[in-house]
Amino acid sequence: MTPRIVSVDCPTCGRKAPFDASNRWRPFCSERCKTVDLGAWAAERYRIAGDSRSDRADDWGESGDAPTDDSRPRD
Ligand SMILES: [Zn+2]
Repeated sequence: MTPRIVSVDCPTCGRKAPFDASNRWRPFCSERCKTVDLGAWAAERYRIAGDSRSDRADDWGESGDAPTDDSRPRD
């Protein structure tokens, strides 16, 4: 007999989750896993968009005038 219930691996925890109308969180196994996955995606997106420090580092790198410890007095 072929099982009628189709299941998928939950992207968050890897457990089998039913992939049908009875699972409102599909392809996740639960609301929690869906929230965790979306939160991780949002955090990743925010971290990349908000990372401006690396841009400033590139600025002084490309100018050829990278600061060195010997050329400037320390406080
Ligand atoms: Zn899960």
